[in-house]
Amino acid sequence: MENYCPQCVRCNVLRCGHTEKNQIVPASCPTEKYPDLIEETKEKYLLPENQAVIQGWFGLISKVLDPKKPREKLSWTRVDEIMEYATIRGMSRLGIATCYALMHESRLLSDILENNGFEVASVSCLCGEMNPQDMGMPGNIFCNPIMQAEVLNREKTELNLMVGLCVGHDILFLRHCTAETTPLIVKDRALGHNPVAALYLSQNLFYNDRFIRRTD
Ligand code: SF4
Repeated sequence: MENYCPQCVRCNVLRCGHTEKNQIVPASCPTEKYPDLIEETKEKYLLPENQAVIQGWFGLISKVLDPKKPREKLSWTRVDEIMEYATIRGMSRLGIATCYALMHESRLLSDILENNGFEVASVSCLCGEMNPQDMGMPGNIFCNPIMQAEVLNREKTELNLMVGLCVGHDILFLRHCTAETTPLIVKDRALGHNPVAALYLSQNLFYNDRFIRRTD
């Protein structure tokens, strides 16, 4: 049987989002292709550490997506949602892993969190002031996402917020931090840290070739 790679973004059936379940889905449908994973992931959701996150999410989403208040969801910013999630989880010590270039934004964030009763530890990506040559790297600045993570681990933060970490540094930070972590700002220098704009722009007549990868 041909090995179809899951292509949900090209699926026109979308059975997974319907209550009606008798539609025929593509051969690449992950639900059909990996039935064993359904049971396996069920067991993982029942693990206490995952149940805690699910209960936090459910408590939050029950407020945001209140069927009795359809416009409620429009008044929740991501900062609001993160603070509500932390409150539902009983978390009081939050960490900010910030890009050095977004210190202003991270200071505003720290003020908001502290004004809402949270203790905040914030760590710049340039902490440790390592010499890049010691790492076999060129230049005179070395971002240190691993130390950012280890510092917040030592500070025993319960929830970390990533603010504008570079692609790759976010990966290292997530690999080494022990607390639950969620991104607040995803860095996009060209689009004011609004990366989804690139996707919308790709549909625009004046931009559509902008996102075609150049091989020259
Ligand atoms: S999970 Fe299956 S039904 Fe849902 S979008 Fe993917 S292919 Fe389609």
